[in-house]
Amino acid sequence: MTSTNAQLFERAQRVIPGGVNSPVRAFRAVGGTPRFIARAQGPYIFDAEGKRYIDYIGSWGPMILGHGHPAVLDAVQKAALEGFSFGAPTEREIELAEEILKLVPSMDQVRLVSSGTEAAMSALRLARGATGRNKIVKFEGCYHGHADALLVKAGSGLATFGNPTSAGVPDDVVKHTVVLEYNNVAQLEEAFSLHAVDMACVMIEPICGNMNFVRASVPFMTRLRELCTKHGVLLVFDEVMTGFRVALGGAQSLYAKLIPGFAPDISVFGKVIGGGMPLAAFGGRRAVMAQLAPLGPVYQAGTLSGNPVATACGLATLREIQKPGFYEALATSTRKMVDGLAGAAKAAGVPMATDCEGGMFGFFFASELPQNYPAVLATDKERFNRFFHAMLDRGVYLAPALYEAGFVSAAHRPDDIAATIDAAAQALQS
Ligand SMILES: *Cc1c(COP(=O)(O)O)cnc(C)c1O
Repeated sequence: MTSTNAQLFERAQRVIPGGVNSPVRAFRAVGGTPRFIARAQGPYIFDAEGKRYIDYIGSWGPMILGHGHPAVLDAVQKAALEGFSFGAPTEREIELAEEILKLVPSMDQVRLVSSGTEAAMSALRLARGATGRNKIVKFEGCYHGHADALLVKAGSGLATFGNPTSAGVPDDVVKHTVVLEYNNVAQLEEAFSLHAVDMACVMIEPICGNMNFVRASVPFMTRLRELCTKHGVLLVFDEVMTGFRVALGGAQSLYAKLIPGFAPDISVFGKVIGGGMPLAAFGGRRAVMAQLAPLGPVYQAGTLSGNPVATACGLATLREIQKPGFYEALATSTRKMVDGLAGAAKAAGVPMATDCEGGMFGFFFASELPQNYPAVLATDKERFNRFFHAMLDRGVYLAPALYEAGFVSAAHRPDDIAATIDAAAQALQS
C-alpha cells in the first residue's frame, strides 16, 4: 500500500523538524502539503501518489540535462562500482578541475567542496585571508548559503552593519558584514568611501536567482568592478545558481561580453557542476588560490571533497552541456516557456513581467521587472501563491515561493512547454 503525500508529511514531521531537510521544501510560503517525490525521469518528477509533474525546479538547478540522463547514469554507476570515497586524491578530480578551468577563464585553480554553502563560506575566508581585511559586502536579497557571516539582512544605515537573519548568529559575527541594496550605484559608492580600506570582498549573485530573477545592471556591475579594482577589494561572483546554467561560461561570460576586460576575482560554483550530486567549487587566480592550505595560511578541508561518485556525475554533466548547440536549444525552450507565460497572462489581463537567460527564468506578478529586493517584495504574492497551486494541480511543478528562479532542462520537449503554457492559461483564470 502506498502512502499519500499528506501521510508522509505527517510522518516526516514526527522525526524531521518541519518534515523537511531544507526549509523551503515545506511549502510554508505557498501553503499546502509538500509533494514527496518517489522518482524522476527526463523533465518529469512523480510523487508518492504516482502523480506526474513537469519539473521546473530541477533539484533547484542541478538537473540541467533532466533526470536520469543515460550518459550521467552510466558514469555514476561505473564510479560507484570502483568505490564510494577514498579520502585520497583521484585522477577524476584533476579531470573535473581541468574541465571547469577550461570553461571559466577567470580562474587558474579551483578547489572542490560538497555544497554551495561550503564553497561560499570558503571563498569568504579566502578573500579575508588573502587581503588581510575583515569587512565584506553583500546585497539584500542575494543568498550565498547559510554560513553565519552571510546570513545577514540590511541594517538601519550604511554606517552600521547588518543584523543576523537567523537566531544563533551572534551580532559579533555579522558586525563585519555590510549589506547594500542590489543595483544601487550611489549606495555602493558611499559604502566604498566609508569602508574600502577594511573591505576584503564584495560577494554578489550576478543574476540573482534568490530574488526570482533580477539582473545586476551593466552600469552597476561596471562600477562595482572599477571600485573593487581601485581599492584592492576582491570581487566574488556567487555563480552557484548561474554557473553553467545561464551560459556555458556562467554569468561572468555574459558580463565579459558587455564590459570590456571584465572578470571576477573569485568564483563560486555548485548545483549544475555536481549534476545532482553533492559537489561545489570555488576558484580564482593562482596567487589568490595559493593562500589556501596546504600552500598557504587559509585553512579549508573536507572528508568528502572531490568525492569520486560526485565528480563522475559532474564530469559527465559538464561533457554533455558542451555539445554543440546545447545552450542555444536550452535557451530557445526557456524563451518559449516565458513568452508563453507572458502571453497567457496578457490574454487573462494579469500583469506579469518575465525574464530568462540560458536555462534559467523568472516571472513576477508585476507590471515591470523588479531591480532590487524591496521591489520583489512589492510584487503580488497572493496571486503567485494561487498560480503556484493551480499549476501544481495541473501537473506543473514550479518553485514553491516567489523568491525562486525556475529552470528548464534539456529534457523538456516542445510538447512539455506547450502543456505548461496551456496549464498557465487555465491557472491564470483562477
Ligand atoms: C543554492 C545556492 C547556494 C547554496 O548552495 P547549497 O548547495 O544549497 O549549500 C549559494 N549561493 C547561491 C547563489 C545559491 O543559489
